[in-house]
Amino acid sequence: MTYAKIIVDIPSKETNRPYDYRIPASLSDWVEIGSRVGVPFGPRVLQGFVVDLHHEAEVDASKIKPISDVPDLVPPLTAELVRLSRWMSQTYLCHEITALQAMLPGALKAKYERYIAYSGQEPHLRDDGSAGSGTDIGWTEGQGILFDTEPLEEEAIVQYVKLKGPVKAEALMSRFADHAAVVKRLLQSGILEEVQVIKDRLSQKKVLTVFPSEDRARVEEYIAGLPANRKRQKEVLEHFLNHPFPVKQAELLALLEISSSTLKSLAEKGLVHIWETDELRDPYAGRDFVPTRPMALTPQQTEAYRAIASDLDAHRHRTYLLQGVTGSGKTEVYLQTIQRCLDHGREAIVLVPEISLTPQMVERFKGRFGDQVAVLHSRLSQGERYDEWRKIRAGKVKVAIGARSAVFAPFTKIGLIIIDEEHESSYKQEESPKYHAKDVSIRRAEAHHAVVVLGSATPSLETFYQTKVDASGRPCRLTGQEPAIRLLMMSERVEGRPLPEVKVVDLREELKAGNRSMFSRELHQAIEIRLQKKEQTVLLLNRRGYSTFVMCRTCGFVAGCPHCDISLTYHQRSRNMRCHYCGYAEREPHVCPECQSEHIRFFGTGTQRVEEELGKLFPGIRVIRMDVDTTTEKGSHEKWLTMFRNKEADVLLGTQMVAKGLDFPEVTLVGVIAADTVLNLPDFRAGEKTFQLLTQVAGRAGRHHLPGEVVVQSYSPDHYSIVHASRHDYSSFVYEELELRKERGYPPYCRLILITMSHEEIPVLVKMGEALANSLRERASAAGSSDPAFEVLGPVASPIPRIKDRYRFQCMVKYRGETPAVDQVRSVLAAFEAKAKPYKLQISVDVDPQILM
Ligand code: ADP
Ligand code: ZN
Ligand code: ZN
Repeated sequence: MTYAKIIVDIPSKETNRPYDYRIPASLSDWVEIGSRVGVPFGPRVLQGFVVDLHHEAEVDASKIKPISDVPDLVPPLTAELVRLSRWMSQTYLCHEITALQAMLPGALKAKYERYIAYSGQEPHLRDDGSAGSGTDIGWTEGQGILFDTEPLEEEAIVQYVKLKGPVKAEALMSRFADHAAVVKRLLQSGILEEVQVIKDRLSQKKVLTVFPSEDRARVEEYIAGLPANRKRQKEVLEHFLNHPFPVKQAELLALLEISSSTLKSLAEKGLVHIWETDELRDPYAGRDFVPTRPMALTPQQTEAYRAIASDLDAHRHRTYLLQGVTGSGKTEVYLQTIQRCLDHGREAIVLVPEISLTPQMVERFKGRFGDQVAVLHSRLSQGERYDEWRKIRAGKVKVAIGARSAVFAPFTKIGLIIIDEEHESSYKQEESPKYHAKDVSIRRAEAHHAVVVLGSATPSLETFYQTKVDASGRPCRLTGQEPAIRLLMMSERVEGRPLPEVKVVDLREELKAGNRSMFSRELHQAIEIRLQKKEQTVLLLNRRGYSTFVMCRTCGFVAGCPHCDISLTYHQRSRNMRCHYCGYAEREPHVCPECQSEHIRFFGTGTQRVEEELGKLFPGIRVIRMDVDTTTEKGSHEKWLTMFRNKEADVLLGTQMVAKGLDFPEVTLVGVIAADTVLNLPDFRAGEKTFQLLTQVAGRAGRHHLPGEVVVQSYSPDHYSIVHASRHDYSSFVYEELELRKERGYPPYCRLILITMSHEEIPVLVKMGEALANSLRERASAAGSSDPAFEVLGPVASPIPRIKDRYRFQCMVKYRGETPAVDQVRSVLAAFEAKAKPYKLQISVDVDPQILM
C-alpha cells in the first residue's frame, strides 16, 4: 500500500473527513489501519489516525504529502474500532476524530518518551552467557527457535538492544526500518518491552528507575580506569553490563547494598540514567483474590446459561436482556458464560456502572479468571490504565472489566459483551462523543458475531420495550416476530431466599403526629432493633444533598408545570420556579395551593445532616458516611466498604453509591430517608429512576441467611413507582409506566435529540435560537409528507442557564424511531453552522439524551 487516508486531529466540521497521505517506504511496515501518525497539515505537524489504505492516489499524486512519523509500535486501534468511529460520528453527530480519541487511553494522549528495553526473557533456550561478554557474542550462528523466519535479524535486534541498553523507540525503528515486522514480533512475544519515561507531571505514582548508559564502550573504559576504592561504582556498572535493562532504584540499592549517592554520582557522569517512570504494572498485584469455582446452577440460571451458550457455540450475534431479581445470581451466569466464551478462544468485555463503586464485582471476576482479567478502573493512574490497556491490545488478557469506556477495549476476537445494571445512566457519556455504551456494545458485537447480555433487576424502559411487549405490558412470544432483544427471566432468588419485606411510611402522617425528625417512628425503631441485635443497616439518601423542587410538607403537594407534567425547579437567586422543558415560570408560593399549609418550601436533606441526627438519636452509633465528600481519595470506597464488612460500623449511610451491587451478609435493614427526592426531579424518567433505585437498595437487605427488612419513607406513598417497588413488581410497574410514556409521547415511543446552543450574549442567543428552531421546523414540514417528520420544542433556556459565562438555550427534537431525523438534523445543522459561525455560537447535540435537566 502506498497511500493512507487519515483523519487529522482538528475537531471541526471542515476537517471531519479523511485526508490523503503518502506512506514513505521507510514507514511502510508500521502503517496500518488504526495507526496513529504524525502528518504535515498546513504549516504544522498534526496527529492523525489511519482509517484506510490504498494503492492509487485519488488526487494528483505529486501533491500528496508524506506521513512524517508513526509514534506507536503497535497501532493503538483496530480496523474494527476505526469503522466503529465512523458509525459513532454518524449516529451521535460528533466528529470522527472525537470518537477516535475517546477510544484511546489517556496516556497515549500525554507526553511520554518511549524506550525499548530487553525484558530479560531469553529468546531461546541456549544459554551461552553471551549477554555480558560484549565481544564474542556467539549469536551469528542463528539458532532462531522462536520464529521460523529471519532468525538473524531477530537476534541482531535483541543483541543491539542488549548492548545499547534501553533504546528510544524512534531510534530503534529507524535503525531497523527494514525489519519492522521482526521488531514488532519481538515486542509481541515479550522479549523486548516498552518502557515509558514521563516527561511531564501527569501521573501521581512515580518511581525512580535506573537505566544503563547507551554507550557501553565508554562504561567499559571508565571501569578500567577506576581506582580500587571506587568498588561500589564498579559493581553498579558491571551489574548493568551483565543485565542491561532498567531496574527500580529501590531494588538496585537493596540488591547491591549501595547508597543512592553512588548512583547519583554515576548519573552525573552520564554512566547511568535515573529517570522517573510510572509505578509499574498490575494495580491489583499483591492482592489476594479468593479463587472461586463454578457453582451448580439453579434451574433459572441454567436456562439463561444454555440460551447464551448456544449462541456463543454457534458464533451468532444476539442481544439478551437478563432480567433477574436482586440476588437471583446474575453474576454467576456472567462468569460461566464468559468461561464458555474463553473456551472458544474468544474474549469478553464486562461493563459495570462505576467500577470504584463495585469492588466486589472485580473480586468475583479476578477470583474466577485471575490474571486473565484486565481492570480498567477510573481511579487508576494514567500509567496504570495504560498498562492494563496494553495487556488487552496485546491479547495477554482475555477479559476486560471496566466502566463505560471499557466498551472500546481493543480486543480482536470478542465473543461476549456483558453490561451489568444496564439501566444505569452512567453508560451514557455526557460529553462529546455523547455515546451510549449499550448501542456501542451491540454495534461491536455485530461486527464480531458476538453475544450481548444486558443484565438488570430493573431494565430500562427502552431495553424492555425492545423485547416486544404485548398490550398487557408483558413480553409477547406469540407474535412470531423476532424481537431485537431476547428476554431471559430469573424471578427467584438463589436458594429460595425471600425478597425482603418493604414497608412504606407516609411522612405526612408523621408530621401530623408531631414527628419533625427525618426519621419516622417505624425507621427509628427498626434501627434500634438492629443495634440491639448487632446487625447492620444501610441508609440511603437519594441522589442529591440539595434540593431543586418545592414541596408541601403537610400534603405532599409538589409544584409542577401546568404544561409538562414535571416538577418545577426552584431557583434560589430569583426565588421562582421554572419548567425546563417549556420555559414556564412562577413565583415561589408562600402557602400550599392545595391545602393552604405554610409548610411549603424547597426540600432536601444532606447526608451530613442525617449523620448528625443519627448521632443525636442513637448515642454511640457508628456511622460510615459515603458520599462525594468522603470518597474523593483513591481507594476510599474500598476502605469504607471493607470497614463496613468487618462490622466496624453499624450503619452505612450514603447517596445512591450505597444502593448498588453491594453484598453484605449482616445487613438486615435498609432505610430510604426520602424516596421523593428522585421522584420529583424534572425528568420524564423520574418514576423509572425511583423504581430502579428503590429496587436496587431494597436488594441489599437479607441476601444471606438473615431475612431482610426495608423501610421506605415518602411524602407520596401512593405513587405507582413506590407502590410497585415495594411489592417487587417490575411487570406492573413497566405496564403503567409504558402507558404513561405512550400517552405523553416520551421514549421509548419516540426518540429525542437535544440541541444546546451557547453564547456570551443573550440577545444573540435568542435570535440564533429562534433561527435554528425555524430551520428545523421548516425541514420537518418539508421532509414529512402530511405530518411533519419530527417535532421541534423550544428554544428555551437550558436547565443550567449559564456555564463559564456563556448563556445556554436548547431545542428538543422529538421523532418516531423510524424516521431518519438524525440525518435531517445533521443537514440542518451543517447549513446553520455556516450562518452561526460569524457569531461564534457554540452548538452541541445529544442524541437520545439521558439527562434532561
Ligand atoms: P445478582 O447479581 O443477581 O443480584 P448475585 O450474583 O450477587 O445476584 O448472587 C447472589 C448470591 O447468590 C451470591 O452470594 C452468589 O454467590 C450466590 N449464588 C449465585 N448463584 C448461585 C448458585 N447457583 N448456587 C449457590 N449460590 C449462588
Ligand atoms: Zn399542601
Ligand atoms: Zn413546562
